[in-house]
Amino acid sequence: MSHYSDIKENISLHPFNTFHIESKARYYTAISNLAQFRELIASGILLENTMLLLGGGSNLLFTGNYKGTVVHFLNKGIEIISRSEDTILIKAAAGENWHEFVSYCVNEGFGGIENLSLIPGNVGSSPIQNIGAYGVEVKDSLHSLESIDLVSGELSTFSREECRFGYRDSIFKSELKGKKAIWSVTFELSLKPVVHIEYGAIKDELAAMGIQSPGIADVSRAVCAIRKSKLPDPKLLGNAGSFFKNPTVDHKFADKLLEAFPKMVSYPLGDEHLKLAAGWLIEQCGWKGFREGDAGVHENQALVLVNYGNAKGSDILTLAHRIQNSVYERFGVKLEMEVNVI
Ligand SMILES: Cc1cc2nc3c(=O)[nH]c(=O)nc-3n(C[C@H](O)[C@H](O)[C@H](O)COP(=O)(O)OP(=O)(O)OC[C@H]3O[C@@H](n4cnc5c(N)ncnc54)[C@H](O)[C@@H]3O)c2cc1C
Repeated sequence: MSHYSDIKENISLHPFNTFHIESKARYYTAISNLAQFRELIASGILLENTMLLLGGGSNLLFTGNYKGTVVHFLNKGIEIISRSEDTILIKAAAGENWHEFVSYCVNEGFGGIENLSLIPGNVGSSPIQNIGAYGVEVKDSLHSLESIDLVSGELSTFSREECRFGYRDSIFKSELKGKKAIWSVTFELSLKPVVHIEYGAIKDELAAMGIQSPGIADVSRAVCAIRKSKLPDPKLLGNAGSFFKNPTVDHKFADKLLEAFPKMVSYPLGDEHLKLAAGWLIEQCGWKGFREGDAGVHENQALVLVNYGNAKGSDILTLAHRIQNSVYERFGVKLEMEVNVI
C-alpha cells in the first residue's frame, strides 16, 4: 500500500452541506485531477474505510460525524467535443458548479438544460438522481458520462441507456453506489433550441416579464425568478431542497384516494401510474410551517425541511420520520426520502 499525503483528519463538513449541519469527517480529501484520484485509490485508503463521494453537498443530511473518508470532487473543465449543424456535444468535469455550467451554455446559445437553472450542486452529481425541474430532466440531454472505478481506477464510458435513469433515480444510486464515481458528463445540446414553457408557472412568469417569443435565456431567467420566489436560499436558511420524492401510485389506488380527497394534487406518469404531490400530502397533515427547536418545515413549501440554525441532522431525521408516519396514517402512502441520509 502506498502513502497518500493529500488527506486531512477531523475536518468540519459544515461548509460543505447546504443543510449547514455540524459534522466532522474522520478523513477528508479534495480531488482536482485524475492522477491524484488514482493515487488515492492505489493507496488503499478507500478500501480500509467507508467512503463518501461529495459534490456540492446539497442533497445530503449528516446525522453524526462521518467515520470514513470524504472524497470531495473539485475537478474543473468544460470542453466542446464536436459540433454539427443542429447540435453540440459538450463535456463538463464533475466538480463544475451546475448552475454556472447551465449559465455558460445558455449564454453560448446551447439549449436543453435551461429549465434546470439554479439547481444547487455540481455537474458530477446531476445524473445520480437524474435532477429534474419544470418538465425537464438531466437525462433528456445527457449524451454519456465518464465514470471511474473505485477499486481499479479505470475510466469507462456509460451511454444514457446504461445509466438506467428513472424519476430521481439512476444506476449510480443503486447497483453502482460505492463502486463508481462520476468523473465527467457529456451533454448533447441544441443549436436550434425549442423552449419548454408548458410546465408550472413559466408561461405566467414570461408574460409578467413582457416576453412573447422566449428564447432559452428568457426561460432561464423566468425559472430563476420562480425558484427564488418559492424556495429558500440555502445560503440564508439551511435546506436540501425537496426532502421527499413525489410518491408513485397506480390508477386504482389514486382513484380510491381521490374519492376520499377530491382536491388531491397528482400528475400522470406514463399510462399506468400517477405521481402524487408529496408537498400537498404533507401540508394536509398540518406540517407546513411547523418548527420544533431549530428543525422545521418551510412555511411556503411543505416538501422542504429546514435548519433554522443549530439543528442536528438527527433532529431533521426525527422530523422526517414523524412526517412519513402521519402521511402514511392519513393517506396510506409511503413517502420515500429524496435526500441522502448519511
Ligand atoms: C434549494 C434546493 C433546491 C433543489 N432543487 C432541486 C430540483 O429542482 N431538482 C432536483 O432534482 N434536485 C434539487 N435539489 C437537490 C440537489 O440540488 C441535487 O440533488 C444535486 O444534484 C445535488 O448535487 P450535489 O453536488 O450537491 O450532490 P451531493 O449532495 O454532494 O451528493 C449527492 C449524492 O451524489 C453522490 N455523489 C456526489 N458526487 C458524486 C460523484 N462525482 N460520483 C458519484 N457520486 C457522487 C453523493 O455521494 C450523494 O450520494 C435541490 C437542492 C436544494 C438545496
